[in-house]
Amino acid sequence: MSDLILFWHRRDLRISDNTGLAAARQQSTKVVGVFCLDPNILKPDDIASVRVTYMIGCLQALQERYTQAGSQLLILHDDPVQAIPRLALALKAKAVFWNWDVEPYSQKRDRAVIEGLKEKGIEFLPKNWDQLLHAPEDICTGSNQPYTVYTPFWKNWSNKPKPTPVETFAHAQGLTEVEKEKAKTAGVIELPSAKELGFVWDGELIIAPGEIAAQKRLKEFCTHAIEEYQQQRNFPATDGTSRLSAALKFGAIGIRTVWKATQQALENSCSLEAEASIRAWQQELAWREFYQHAMYHFPELAEGAYRDTFKNFPWENNTEYFQAWCEGKTGYPIVDAAMRQLNTIGWMHNRCRMIVANFLTKDLLINPQWGEKYFMQKLIDGDLSANNGGWQWSASSGMDPKPVRIFNPATQAQKFDPDAEYIRQWIPELRSVDTEYLITGKIPSWELQAIDYPAPIVEHKTQQKRFKERYQQQKVQLLR
Ligand SMILES: Cc1cc2nc3c(=O)[nH]c(=O)nc-3n(C[C@H](O)[C@H](O)[C@H](O)COP(=O)(O)OP(=O)(O)OC[C@H]3O[C@@H](n4cnc5c(N)ncnc54)[C@H](O)[C@@H]3O)c2cc1C
Repeated sequence: MSDLILFWHRRDLRISDNTGLAAARQQSTKVVGVFCLDPNILKPDDIASVRVTYMIGCLQALQERYTQAGSQLLILHDDPVQAIPRLALALKAKAVFWNWDVEPYSQKRDRAVIEGLKEKGIEFLPKNWDQLLHAPEDICTGSNQPYTVYTPFWKNWSNKPKPTPVETFAHAQGLTEVEKEKAKTAGVIELPSAKELGFVWDGELIIAPGEIAAQKRLKEFCTHAIEEYQQQRNFPATDGTSRLSAALKFGAIGIRTVWKATQQALENSCSLEAEASIRAWQQELAWREFYQHAMYHFPELAEGAYRDTFKNFPWENNTEYFQAWCEGKTGYPIVDAAMRQLNTIGWMHNRCRMIVANFLTKDLLINPQWGEKYFMQKLIDGDLSANNGGWQWSASSGMDPKPVRIFNPATQAQKFDPDAEYIRQWIPELRSVDTEYLITGKIPSWELQAIDYPAPIVEHKTQQKRFKERYQQQKVQLLR
């Protein structure tokens, strides 16, 4: 057995402020990173090409960081349950360390890897949380139960002292030439491109990959924009949010570093408005944790509705409507603009995520799981917990205490895109149409004939009524 500790990166694609990696370095000077491209996850039908492209970019950046530190990041392309213990054994590693995750698949996989390591007499790091400010077990109600409502969760969570960023390392010892050869025979490969893995993305990325780029984005956002977040965050035509979601999803930035930046912004803020804005952004970070804790405690969320009323809901699931929604051709300009933003850049503004999810479920009466899956196929930041939480909230099938929330797309457009700037940005064929028509969604038929844009595929009021009837029927059935 050598002094080597392998550090298995998963959704923590950085060196700095990485708690598991810091623990590895404390126990040994010889720390080598490994990332396993998992064929169980990397399925082109399930995963967005833009997300894989961002992830591979982060891995390239991480390889550079390891090289600068004097060590290496090794790449495997195999089922981690076999590949990780096999590599550890071939390199005679004394331990494999990694950070724990909330997702059901990850936990099952990690338990299997632990069994494989135990069989070979290789140590591992017991459950270590890195991607969260507070472990799911640490935020509980007075009766020691997990929270199912956000507001009391936030009160408890925000009152707890937050951990500060951890020092990781500037230098670590890597593999010898002989060990590098052994690693190759145990399956280590060169890092492939996203294209080589079957994921083609030719567009730009909304955030450059890697930890340096994520730190830069955080710094830029926390220097000024964060102070106007509350006023700007709901207007999709404005660049008023951080766009850090992909970096947070893949851990290109540590959550303690992010929190510290918000604390510094609070110290530097000069007005009550600025302070309220910074707190509003902190609340979004808490939503991220709320949904991760929920997934950890209630893994059944990944399979379907949380509320009984929606467990067997009679969705209509019209495939033509679904296709129109996916392509941004529903005839509702604000919905279509949002879907085209998603299809074009692999990211959608939060306000619009709520609008399109509400529209799919309440206006088109389509199962939210269809939309949830489509988002995972398209989003750069696609994340099981946040996406599932957002869809369940929008479909009213989740933990949100409000029984049914129905958005009127026209009201949403009038409030949040009053000059139709966002609509015109993403639907070029509507650029010359009057603002009033665009935000009310009432484009006259003579105007529609002149442009290549559909009339509304459904009528909002009628669909709202149908949805409510079905909802009432479900409630009555449950009472029987
Ligand atoms: C239907 C639906 C699906 C969604 N799917 C995802 C998803 O797959 N991945 C994802 O990261 N977010 C998802 N969200 C949440 C939110 O829309 C995005 O996190 C946000 O738009 C990302 O942009 P930003 O980084 O500029 O956010 P900011 O406004 O700058 O927020 C900062 C960070 O807080 C977190 N955050 C913000 N809002 C939420 C929220 N409502 N729930 C959980 N975390 C939040 C994100 O990590 C985000 O990067 C979804 C929301 C809805 C309504």
